[in-house]
Amino acid sequence: MAHLLALDQGTTSSRAIVFDESLTPIGVGQRDLTQHYPRPGWVEHDPAEIWSTQTGTSAEAIADAGIEASSIAAVGITNQRETTIIWDRSTGEPIHNAIVWQDRRTAPHCDRLRAGGLEPLFQERTGLLLDAYFSGTKIAWLLDKVPGARARAERGELCFGTVDSWLAWKLTAGARHITDHSNASRTLLMNLRTLAWDDELLGILNIPRAILPEIVPSASLYADATTGPLKGAPIGAIAGDQQAATFGQACFRPGQAKNTYGTGCFLLVNTGPEPRASTNRLISTFGYSHADTRTYCLEGSVFVAGAIIQWLRDGLGIIRRADEIEHLAASVPDTGGVALVPALTGLGAPHWDPGARGTITGITRGTTAAHIARAALEGIAQSAADLVQAMDADLAAPITELRVDGGAAANDLLMQLQADTIGRPVVRAAVAETTALGAAALAGLASGLYTSTDQIASIWNAGRTFEPAIDDAGRAEARDRWADAVGRALSRDRVARG
Ligand code: ADP
Repeated sequence: MAHLLALDQGTTSSRAIVFDESLTPIGVGQRDLTQHYPRPGWVEHDPAEIWSTQTGTSAEAIADAGIEASSIAAVGITNQRETTIIWDRSTGEPIHNAIVWQDRRTAPHCDRLRAGGLEPLFQERTGLLLDAYFSGTKIAWLLDKVPGARARAERGELCFGTVDSWLAWKLTAGARHITDHSNASRTLLMNLRTLAWDDELLGILNIPRAILPEIVPSASLYADATTGPLKGAPIGAIAGDQQAATFGQACFRPGQAKNTYGTGCFLLVNTGPEPRASTNRLISTFGYSHADTRTYCLEGSVFVAGAIIQWLRDGLGIIRRADEIEHLAASVPDTGGVALVPALTGLGAPHWDPGARGTITGITRGTTAAHIARAALEGIAQSAADLVQAMDADLAAPITELRVDGGAAANDLLMQLQADTIGRPVVRAAVAETTALGAAALAGLASGLYTSTDQIASIWNAGRTFEPAIDDAGRAEARDRWADAVGRALSRDRVARG
């Protein structure tokens, strides 16, 4: 029996999961990752801890599954995206902590580039908008701020990588400095059409080509691991976490979409073999690649989704555990006219307003904690519905169903509200670990364990389907109430921009 092992390097934890050939998880290891907040708005990770937690969890997952490492047909890497690491090519020592995707320190740099009229160029080449979220300005910051870094980079002494590159480099003891198309598409440096680093963009951000990894397909046998508990196992896949989840949800055909409900929400729709530009403030991004196949996606993210439930728990104290929200919200038939916009850290796609803030509208004397709880769930569903609406407008044909996963997707009421707000079925995956599953399935494709995505699609199982249960008039009324509340949540700057 062959096995697949996924390294799932997330923002708050590192996990390793062993899957059998039927893509059933049979062993897991998980360790938390320390968050460093050196200043307000800054978030860092220690690259050494990223590596040590992944070797630790690999050993745990292998032991938990009760298998021999030699039965691992291939390892798939999936990772928190955009997080930026630079290390010394000869010693392997990072020159600084990793700058995490959430980190806002390069927002002023992005503002300057935008003021210089450069956003359309970056959008046209990379599919992205100019935001501190992406790696490009984080690399520039490290080269500018770490003493001597720029000169060393120009001499070819340094390597840049997102977390996937760092893990592949460590697994191969420095033999491979690679990243896949999906991770490279989040750097602001890769041309989304040619899938090569773009010299003009490198010039604008003042980043020497010598530090960049080689760009490789998401599924391909790159090398064998030469160190640690995975020694001897072939490394067969690399994909950013959301792209891996899209693959793990078997969204192989254009128009198939998935939404992941965690701290935030990430909605991706497969748009086929060519990049599709968004005219509705979504991002176009790479999906996954294997052999000669390339798949692109449109992506939208909501910054605060499950995190609003944490705020109801910790900030308001109306629940003690996140899963109590469902019972409380279900104790009322509707929100009683209350709307809650969970814009605690600004609004993401398609509104893009960092200055927006959380807003509750429609409170009356009759409003109770249960109405607020229900409005919070509806706010998550409506935020995702804004993304679906933008995608429908960007695509030739509307999305027909939404596949869902992530911690908050366990909430049946939330899933029902999601089906109601978008007026389409919501299909929850049978295996909740879709990110790791996607990385494992890609690795299985590279190793020849699976011969096609059709075969993987036939293994994929739906869990429960939620059908819309309200009529069009009820749906439209709720959408109107939401749009009104979003209008009130926007910052003055954003309102002035129109
Ligand atoms: P992440 O990977 O972003 O850390 P997870 O997928 O683990 O997130 O999901 C955790 C998030 O989901 C938390 O923000 C939590 O508040 C929320 N959550 C967990 N259970 C529920 C639930 N039953 N209903 C609504 N939200 C939930």
